[in-house]
Amino acid sequence: MQGIWILGDQLNAAHPALQALERDHGPQEARRRCRLLLIESTSVLAWRRYHRQKLVLVWSAMRHFAAELREAGWLVDQREASSFGDALTAWIAKHGIRALAVMEPAERPFRQAIERLQLPIPLQWHPSNAFLWSREAFAAWAAPYKQLRMELFYREGRRRFGVLMDPAADPPGSQPFGGQWNYDQENRKAPPRGLSGPPPLRFEPDAVTRAVITKVEELAVAMEAAGDGGLPGQSQPFTWAVTRTQALAVLEHFIATRLDGFGPYQDAMVSGQPTLWHALLSPYLNLGLLQPLEVIRRLEQAGLERGTPLASLEGVIRQILGWREYTHGLYWWFGPDYHQRNHFGADRPLPPWLEHLGGSGMACLDTVLGELAITGYTHHIQRLMVLANYGLIAGLDPQAFTAWFHRMFIDGFDWVMQTNVIGMGLFADGGLLASKPYAASGNYINRMSTYCKGCRYNPKQRSGADACPFNALYWDFLARNREGLGRNPRMGLVLKQLEKIPAPELVAIRSTAASHRPTEPHR
Ligand code: SF4
Repeated sequence: MQGIWILGDQLNAAHPALQALERDHGPQEARRRCRLLLIESTSVLAWRRYHRQKLVLVWSAMRHFAAELREAGWLVDQREASSFGDALTAWIAKHGIRALAVMEPAERPFRQAIERLQLPIPLQWHPSNAFLWSREAFAAWAAPYKQLRMELFYREGRRRFGVLMDPAADPPGSQPFGGQWNYDQENRKAPPRGLSGPPPLRFEPDAVTRAVITKVEELAVAMEAAGDGGLPGQSQPFTWAVTRTQALAVLEHFIATRLDGFGPYQDAMVSGQPTLWHALLSPYLNLGLLQPLEVIRRLEQAGLERGTPLASLEGVIRQILGWREYTHGLYWWFGPDYHQRNHFGADRPLPPWLEHLGGSGMACLDTVLGELAITGYTHHIQRLMVLANYGLIAGLDPQAFTAWFHRMFIDGFDWVMQTNVIGMGLFADGGLLASKPYAASGNYINRMSTYCKGCRYNPKQRSGADACPFNALYWDFLARNREGLGRNPRMGLVLKQLEKIPAPELVAIRSTAASHRPTEPHR
């Protein structure tokens, strides 16, 4: 009997091992000679205490996917276990499995963990279908460049997959539709008063999901009783899609209600409006419920038919065809040591309010953390310019902060978070990914959000008890790293501004910043 182990982020009926079997033996014989296995292992919690919403999403989606495979005639086994290895070994012995097929995990540690199991039967690896660019194709693209940049990669992706290209160009398909590759400049509008987006599509949990919620709550209680700190976030209300049908409905709902407005306020942050026009598709893409090319093609087709403003259509396609593929490609291209990078030597521990998802006293952070506690989600500017920005300018330990992001976000995986947090958010890789650190003062947050209006701090002040901590930390970050940042030509302007601050004022700013930085260096 052949075995196929389907991992929790590979929930796709086009799984390459299933397809290979059907191709070789035909649909009926493939189903007769093979058993499929899905394992819900609580051992993941010994490694990372995940947000409750994330556990519910992954385990419920796995259970629903197993049921769908059964309906399609496959022999499917589900195991709830405390160890992947034990569950797998017992299953192999029980069913006389002679060879095991696995799709390449997107995460390096999981691939290594499978190899360490030293299974008594041959292991067949199948290439991943979760990304458009294979690791080899990405490496071939990246090799000639001294400095990699997303924009060049994105343009190559547009050409290679023929997305939003101009059929009337000479030669056809060689130029971007609309004459411009990137409309990001048009997508950075500050929120006007009263801005609100269309409500997202939500789903009532069914019996399967409710059973998983109960399991997660029981686990949280047991962990707390054992002194393991419980699980962060709340499991209810749980409204995420857990099947492919529901995920496709989210895509169609996005097209019908949010696609046209996606662009302009993409960077805006509004209290009480956690989703605005954001697509909310990343959890489903990252679990395999949706495939990147089907989403891109559907968006392109629908957007062109609807006459969606190009800045909106190109903006959302860039997130999937550009950024998602780029961060995954870089994760493998940069190699296994990338996660250890710490360019600024940042060593401050995470403040407790990050773990508690609230209680910082800063309205911006507490609003974002409050939304995160409820859903396991915040949009990308909240992640980059509030959370990661704080970590960068406060000098939080990049490894601890990356692990925090990985645990807390519904769409967080190793391949997502390493490049996004170590590279983009914290510049801990020294510029392998980004051309400059995304450090910002409270001025940016005040301009792009409504948070400061409800804050006890003053976004115009940079020293003293009432000063916005982001202001003090920002100038302190520049002063602390003045020498290293001076070698980056894109930092010249802000460093000139730093020089203009009178010495006594800089002392006061830095003393204010010190009061907002966690004090004990992390070891
Ligand atoms: Fe955040 Fe500063 Fe604005 Fe308060 S004043 S919300 S701390 S940016």
